[in-house]
Amino acid sequence: MHLQEILDTIKLISKTTVAEEAYQIDEKGKWPENSLRALQKAGLGGLVVAKEFGGQGQGLLGLARACEILGEVSGSAALCYGMHCVGAAVIGAKATKQQQEDFLKPIAAGEHLTTLALSEPGTGAHFYFPQTQLLALSENEFLLNGSKSFVTNGSKADSYVISTAGVDPEAAREEFSCFVLENTTSGLQWGPEWHGLGMRGNSSRSLLLNDIKVPAQNLLGDVGDQLWYVFQVVAPYFLTAMSGTYLGIAQAAFNEARQHLLERSYRHSGATIGQNNIMQHRLGMLWCKIERTRQLLYHATREGDIGDPAAVLPILASKAEVGHCCVDVVNEAMTIMGGIAYSQNSRMDVLLRDARAAHVMSPTTDILYTWLGRALLEQPILDS
Ligand SMILES: Cc1cc2nc3c(=O)[nH]c(=O)nc-3n(C[C@H](O)[C@H](O)[C@H](O)COP(=O)(O)OP(=O)(O)OC[C@H]3O[C@@H](n4cnc5c(N)ncnc54)[C@H](O)[C@@H]3O)c2cc1C
Repeated sequence: MHLQEILDTIKLISKTTVAEEAYQIDEKGKWPENSLRALQKAGLGGLVVAKEFGGQGQGLLGLARACEILGEVSGSAALCYGMHCVGAAVIGAKATKQQQEDFLKPIAAGEHLTTLALSEPGTGAHFYFPQTQLLALSENEFLLNGSKSFVTNGSKADSYVISTAGVDPEAAREEFSCFVLENTTSGLQWGPEWHGLGMRGNSSRSLLLNDIKVPAQNLLGDVGDQLWYVFQVVAPYFLTAMSGTYLGIAQAAFNEARQHLLERSYRHSGATIGQNNIMQHRLGMLWCKIERTRQLLYHATREGDIGDPAAVLPILASKAEVGHCCVDVVNEAMTIMGGIAYSQNSRMDVLLRDARAAHVMSPTTDILYTWLGRALLEQPILDS
């Protein structure tokens, strides 16, 4: 499918299946299974998987736009799909023949859901310094010990892309390795169900890895070369999926505010609030905020897709700027909509709670601006 056809298909699924499931996703914390299955059924499980394995061969721009469309209807559906796509991109970056057969082809066929499990309780926002230990038992097998936190699609996915410390205890902290772990692996211990303030359908659960045996064939790339993964694959795809998602949430808040301005009228004057100059001005400013952030994201992802090394700056900036855009637009929309926006279980209630995760999902907004500053000063991006 061409990108436009893909986006039209996602719009249709968003208006139907995702919209139907959205209330339950927030109200009951339901993992967006129907939405994800509908996307897989439509041939979009392999959005970022290469065409030679049956995927759609899309890159960062396709992922940003897909998550944006979904995020406008359900933040959780967008993020769960986005994390699957990020996991697929990480697997696909250096997949062996076996991994192409075991993971990429089933992902493209809509039969396999994956996700990213990088964050750990011990290192929090600094996900690029994993402490999960990797021990070589033999040439064919490794032993994993550690714990992961906030694994979106947790316990629901068919596989998990896991980061670990390098095998060599003397290795630099950032020389971590990546594995793909099947959900059938024995010994995975999932923490309690996710009851988030927002993004309530994410199933972002903790995972204990106690003496987990992993076949060496599930190693992604080579042991310890994963800094390459962080900056070439994980960061661009992860940042893009999140940016698209939270931009969609900002757009949804804008739509609510606009509708309110069109519909709310006063008995004493018969005028709608949309006829008030101050409100017109506020709406115009909100539109500009969203549109300039959107254009930054689209520009960043286009540059990333053509492999321009300079794309790293706008990609880092996009997620930080989308974070501010999303939280600010939702706040401003709340003001524009007056008291009615405070109704419990209203659309604004959901958007306000979902938007807040934008700043704290790593790389967090604060960390991203610091990375940007370091890159601009030609200093190493990661703290020593
Ligand atoms: C809804 C949700 C879904 C998630 N999904 C996933 C997922 O699928 N996979 C995954 O791997 N992780 C996921 N995460 C985890 C997320 O990406 C972060 O790693 C995690 O929320 C941050 O860890 P923490 O709560 O321990 O924050 P902390 O590390 O305690 O950070 C707290 C604050 O301190 C700031 N801070 C810390 N260090 C610095 C610094 N050096 N400079 C400036 N500021 C700093 C941070 O920016 C943050 O604002 C998810 C989180 C949430 C909330």
